[in-house]
Amino acid sequence: MRNHRFAWRAVRSALAIVPVVTTFAAAAAPAQTADMILTGGRVWTGPGATVEGPEAPTALALRDGRVMAVGSDGEIRRLAGPATRRLALDGRRVIPGLMDNHTHFMDGGFELAGVQLRDAATPAAFARRIGRFAAAHPGDWITGGTWDHELWGGELPRRDWIDSLTPNTPVFVSRLDGHMGLANTRALELAGVTAETEDPAGGTIVRYPDGRPTGILKDAAQGLVTRVIPPPSEAERERAVEAAAAHALARGVTLIADMGSWAGLATYRRLAARGRLPLRVYAVVPIATWRRLAAYVAREGRGDHRLFWGGVKGYVDGSLGSTTAWFYAPYDDEPTTSGLMVTDTAVLRRDILSADSAGLHVMVHAIGDRANDWLLERFAEVRARNGPRDRRLRVEHAQHLTREAIRRFGAEGVIPSMQPYHAIDDGRWAEKRIGPERIQTTYAFRDLLDAGARLTFGSDWTVAPIAALLGIYAAVTRRTIDGANPRGWVAAQKISVAEALTAYTAANAYAGYLESELGTLEPGKYADLVVLSDDVFAIDPVALEDVRVDMTMVEGEIVYNRER
Ligand SMILES: [Zn+2]
Repeated sequence: MRNHRFAWRAVRSALAIVPVVTTFAAAAAPAQTADMILTGGRVWTGPGATVEGPEAPTALALRDGRVMAVGSDGEIRRLAGPATRRLALDGRRVIPGLMDNHTHFMDGGFELAGVQLRDAATPAAFARRIGRFAAAHPGDWITGGTWDHELWGGELPRRDWIDSLTPNTPVFVSRLDGHMGLANTRALELAGVTAETEDPAGGTIVRYPDGRPTGILKDAAQGLVTRVIPPPSEAERERAVEAAAAHALARGVTLIADMGSWAGLATYRRLAARGRLPLRVYAVVPIATWRRLAAYVAREGRGDHRLFWGGVKGYVDGSLGSTTAWFYAPYDDEPTTSGLMVTDTAVLRRDILSADSAGLHVMVHAIGDRANDWLLERFAEVRARNGPRDRRLRVEHAQHLTREAIRRFGAEGVIPSMQPYHAIDDGRWAEKRIGPERIQTTYAFRDLLDAGARLTFGSDWTVAPIAALLGIYAAVTRRTIDGANPRGWVAAQKISVAEALTAYTAANAYAGYLESELGTLEPGKYADLVVLSDDVFAIDPVALEDVRVDMTMVEGEIVYNRER
């Protein structure tokens, strides 16, 4: 996949075996004609592809949902017959469908229909939006929200901000990283959380000076309230997936990994069975349920290329935003803590080893440097104890790394599954939290690639927007969203557009065992592709954030088309 010349030769030889119609009179069309041809564009076929010049392909032919050929306009037009649909690209750039390696997709769907707090920039706006939503949906639980207290200077919200607006409506709204949430008084009552409630293991109940809870529950303490929230109905779940899918496809995302649940997998399967899953889904379930998944795989297989499963996800630590990411040294701005493990180490270690030996695909969240080292050690143990296998172990986030950890990702073939948008978001305040030294190897995209690691990207939606193009902008420019780092935050870790695209396409296909079917625009692979408004290779990287998706195709079908 790295050697472009090889890939191009494959394209050429595929063209060579297609009989060419040379005269108009030939009633016999080519042995096979294309269902659709796209001509007059600039096609980026995948890593290492020629971007500009006479060698660069301008056109594609599609047939039966797959790429039939890639080449020049002339070469591709010869594959068209009378019934072939023709699409003019008008010079626009075509790239493989973008893949998002890490989402909380079902949650995202619910949030699209829920209260919007992501850009609430003041405590007053925060409270007002919750109040309005409560008035519009009286009595229903208000959840989701994805608020960010850094927008108003870092003061944590409290239930007294919203209680008078929500006297009868239980509220539990989450910080955008999902590692803490705010409950109102009604929700705390329903959950039975009082001043007497003790902090659960791996979690914190934030309190007023007199010991009463403020409503903020961190990490495992969130379970005190979330367990009393009634589950959504199946119809609501399906509507959430459909809303999320439309949202993703409009952003060029044709495959997502959902760090999800069994209920999510069941919903995806029902939708897929009715042909109502318009994008590809890797449905991942919690690692604690690995036994159930192993039995499920034995009974039902692993799905198909539209919907597949077989992966489990665990957690080592919390997040930087909640100061629960697990570091060797304390936080600079909270010196009493260096973070925490959110899972019992003995239990997580056993689950990792067992899930792997059951043939499942293991992915584990690790953010702090100590959490990453701990996990790399466990993965080494997996290899030593369970023997060689094509296991593609993944570290989700891999956010703060020691130099040695960066080396190990490359040398040991462990996949860093990272989210570039976090870099331009956290970059606003990460240095105050962990200091000037540790930020040098934070979101270390450049160093990881240089170490030979197979870097993969995602959004962590709903923590960050699902827009992969914005992720590419983030990885290439590292310009923080507050505008404070115009030349890039920790600029030495910037990567190129082609490297970032690869992390969203070919590398993600590999990370999902799909590289023979997806990730590049080569003959035989699925015709999942995106037409962009601007050429991401030609424009100033700063303008990448304004590039729009004009059209998205999955399996040769147009699933999103922006009115031009
Ligand atoms: Zn996540």
